[in-house]
Amino acid sequence: MIDVSHLSKTYGQTLALADVSFSIHAGEIVGLLGPNGAGKTTLIKILTGYLQPDNGFVRIDGLDVLDQTEAVQTRIGYLPENAPLYPELSVQAYLKLMADLRLVPVGQRGANIAEAVHATGLGDRLTQPIGQLSKGYRQRVGLAQALLNKPKLLILDEPTVGLDPTQIVEIRRLIQRLSRHSTILFSTHILSEVEALCDRVLMLMNGRLRADALTGDLAASGEALLVLEKEAPDVETVLAALPQVAHVSAERNRDGYPVYRVQGEQRADLCPAIYQSAVQNEWPVRELRDEVRSLERVFNELAVREE
Ligand code: ATP
Repeated sequence: MIDVSHLSKTYGQTLALADVSFSIHAGEIVGLLGPNGAGKTTLIKILTGYLQPDNGFVRIDGLDVLDQTEAVQTRIGYLPENAPLYPELSVQAYLKLMADLRLVPVGQRGANIAEAVHATGLGDRLTQPIGQLSKGYRQRVGLAQALLNKPKLLILDEPTVGLDPTQIVEIRRLIQRLSRHSTILFSTHILSEVEALCDRVLMLMNGRLRADALTGDLAASGEALLVLEKEAPDVETVLAALPQVAHVSAERNRDGYPVYRVQGEQRADLCPAIYQSAVQNEWPVRELRDEVRSLERVFNELAVREE
């Protein structure tokens, strides 16, 4: 659905994107994560044909964004960071105007507006001026306009920014519902949002793509934790000699029990071998588990490496 190859973009002296490449398949829901200034909005503007890259190309649904900008834009539903909403217009009038501007075929306008209104739960706000709506509802209006051309691909720039926790949950549910029919790429600062919604995550830092992985794969650390009731002889040496183990460190947890952190090679499944060693050596095991990294930890580790 999206093919991005070697994209670069500078604004004067500022490097906003540097040699970014990735692909997104139809049906995926992908989170674009990055700190302020990482290049997320720049990337999204290039994907949607509103900004030209210095180098590289983007293909959406097989079409080159630079050569076939209009055709691409009819296939995309785009919610910009600050969607321009006209506060004096009613929801209905605004959606009609946007359907006009989007060149939605006249015969389909009524049906497409009705579907977008239904999908975003705006049915009881149609006659209300947009300026009188809460921020969460205004965001729904922004999403509704992005749905007017029944897009195969939805690109949302920080769809939950500035919303309160209840509104965030509502918009997340909405995104989840929309993902049944469209491929979705959305940018966010909120790590839990990506964990909750996305199959895949792209992490941008200083204009560079630092991670492109399935959300579950990022969390799998290849690390296991063994907690014993009390010290036992040679635990570190025995663990370090196991296949696929790269490093073992010993510490004590808050309750004073000895803890052995066993780092394996990428995606190593360490627990079965550690369990066998524990049985053979009669270690007094209190706990044995795979360590799962939070997205926050992955993100912070990458951010530290960037500095
Ligand atoms: P945020 O999360 O804060 O919205 P972002 O990840 O979307 O940030 P971008 O807005 O793409 O980041 O900005 C990337 C870099 O390019 C930043 O250093 C920013 O200051 C710079 N930049 C963005 N737009 C312009 C512009 N029109 N002119 C000059 N520099 C710009």
